[in-house]
Amino acid sequence: MNKIKFLGIGAGDISMVLQMVPTSSIFCELDGIKFLIDPGPGTLINARRHKIDITELNGLLVSHLHTDHAGDANAVLSGMNKNSFLIAEKHCLKPSEKYYPAISRYHQEIPEAVFAVEPEGKVIIGSLNFEITPTKHYDPAVGFKIIGSKTIGYVGDGIYFNGQEKYFAGCDLMIFNTLVMHSDKPNETLQMSINDATELVEKCKPKLGVIQHYSYQMIRNDPIEQARIIQDKTGVRIHAAMDGTEIEL
Ligand SMILES: [Zn+2]
Repeated sequence: MNKIKFLGIGAGDISMVLQMVPTSSIFCELDGIKFLIDPGPGTLINARRHKIDITELNGLLVSHLHTDHAGDANAVLSGMNKNSFLIAEKHCLKPSEKYYPAISRYHQEIPEAVFAVEPEGKVIIGSLNFEITPTKHYDPAVGFKIIGSKTIGYVGDGIYFNGQEKYFAGCDLMIFNTLVMHSDKPNETLQMSINDATELVEKCKPKLGVIQHYSYQMIRNDPIEQARIIQDKTGVRIHAAMDGTEIEL
């Protein structure tokens, strides 16, 4: 079975610290390969609540080192076996002048296959192709296009930039980390807004779009209503993920 399950949906410091809703992480099962994307704080308890067995995971993907994406990465890796894989934006794994890695050296040694990736990279795991896509965020971050019998686009954090659509052609499902609600004013943060997601949906025309990773502001502004704005403008079916939402592909 090919499926996606949202083990949480929250994002940003306020929503995360107050646990207004459980913080995001996404479980995927595609062509028999089970992996988790961006384990925010609380992933272990959220996995247990939603009956996902962390010890059965084949892999882990981490798009960037922000805590709402990588907070539980070490804890998840503790439960993974040697035959697993880890694909992480390179600053999550290697120290640099500005950044300290989010994933410890000890935990990096648990999976057999570790890939420190950057935009335009590619990783092949069994029958799945992971294309690493660029983002425009305030710290180094990537997105993922995951190609198997179905194609999943995980856009990652950051605002829409010209040409981003070329990385997500032909997706069955696109997932958007929409922290910023719809507005007539330009989006001045480097976080994805409903307007940014609308732009991408309009250009990429996925079969289904899902918004998730809600800030305090988004939670207060009804994600279902925000999803409807994208759907009405693009004619593409858009779903607002809730805690535990499961989608069969
Ligand atoms: Zn971020």
